[in-house]
Amino acid sequence: MLREKTVLLRYHAFHWGPPLLNARPMSTLVENPPIAPVKTQPKVGIVSLGCPKALVDSERIITRLRAEGYAISPDYAGADLVLVNTCGFLDSARDESLEAIGEAIEANGKVIVTGCLGAEPDVIQKAHPKVLAVTGPHQYEQVMEAVHKHLTPPPDAFTDLVPETGLKLTPRHYSYLKISEGCNNRCSFCIIPKLRGDLVSRPIHHVLTEAEQLVRAGVNELLVISQDTSAYGLDVKYAPQMWKGEEYETRFLDLARGLGSLGAWVRMHYVYPYPHVDKVIPLMADGTILPYLDIPFQHASANVLKAMKRPAKQDRVLERIQQWRRDVPGMTIRSTFIVGFPGETEEDFEILLDFIREAKIDRAGCFKYENVQHAESRDLPGHLPEEVKEERWHRFMAVQAAVSAERAEAQVGTVQDVIIDGPGEADGEMFARTKADAPEVDGIVYLDNASHLQPGDIVSARITDADEYDLYGEPA
Ligand code: SF4
Repeated sequence: MLREKTVLLRYHAFHWGPPLLNARPMSTLVENPPIAPVKTQPKVGIVSLGCPKALVDSERIITRLRAEGYAISPDYAGADLVLVNTCGFLDSARDESLEAIGEAIEANGKVIVTGCLGAEPDVIQKAHPKVLAVTGPHQYEQVMEAVHKHLTPPPDAFTDLVPETGLKLTPRHYSYLKISEGCNNRCSFCIIPKLRGDLVSRPIHHVLTEAEQLVRAGVNELLVISQDTSAYGLDVKYAPQMWKGEEYETRFLDLARGLGSLGAWVRMHYVYPYPHVDKVIPLMADGTILPYLDIPFQHASANVLKAMKRPAKQDRVLERIQQWRRDVPGMTIRSTFIVGFPGETEEDFEILLDFIREAKIDRAGCFKYENVQHAESRDLPGHLPEEVKEERWHRFMAVQAAVSAERAEAQVGTVQDVIIDGPGEADGEMFARTKADAPEVDGIVYLDNASHLQPGDIVSARITDADEYDLYGEPA
């Protein structure tokens, strides 16, 4: 598929990266923005790999390219130059990125590399000496400089072709909203702070203005992303800003309040359970934002969490989750976990399984620990054999599947709001999602007799059946 499409998005939707071993395979192909190239325009092809944050970077780059008059080519053959936005988080992601670069060189010959793996230019140049230029993550200016150098910009900028919201790689009805770059934490398995630096929060009035423009352009669901959403504003000491005549502090609570006022679904990803998260729960109870929290717990055993150097103490986490569920009936909690971390004993692993069962983690992605180059955890004692990791991963997925199936079964007979994503495979069928399902990573509602509905519509649906992860229903 990569050979035929220029923009390939392999979402690795958890912020510590691919490959994702999740309840559902998450590979998706997104077409280019439907803009016909003008004959004389220089054409750039883009291959975008990695997580939603990398996807947002790709969107910014294509927006700049289009604003300067470049066309986006839908295939390698028609491109004058190919840009590969890489992911470099896990070794397998690095391999995948190097493979994609090789493929672009073979198919096109003129290749510029950017993104996380771009932080290690030597690795790229050694594997692919023909690469024209390498820039690191979110170095938009350097990417544009490299493009200008190797593909002369057109004489006139076609700024009128670029919408106010920039160009998007997601469907028109939902959009990722990046609120910060980098991370102040130093989890031992993660090299993101080395790749992307410390936390830098975007000013809240800029984020809210961008969100408002997106909603005005037809976005009905905003997905808030960062490395650590609940740390938003810490680096700027929660600086207050004015937006629409009202003061908003650059912090998680005010962000939720502001975004919730726009009338779209607001879904929070990568939220650490710091104490102040409790203050956002009432905004879920009153419907301001979706009753959905994506919290990357990674483990539940105190020993393993200590070795992982995880932020936000896990004390009372179970109690807090139970309280949140009492305050917001129907709240969905998504999380990611790592099994087979160095030093993880059978007892630690059992603690993790008990946590999944007791907290009833509704959606969970699970990674087998991978020994990422340059990660501190490489030097920890007690690395486990692959067979143990594999066996624990299967046991984890079985427990999670049971929790998920129980939840899905409980939805049968309910009537709930769903957002339409697009046509299904059967006649009259549409794919939709409930408030409990983020795009790409969670469940689907297969909606019968729904061909009259459009992507982005939010309608009531009666749930008539369920399997482990997905629901079936029809418009109510
Ligand atoms: S919180 Fe930990 S895992 Fe997440 S980006 Fe920061 S250092 Fe990496």
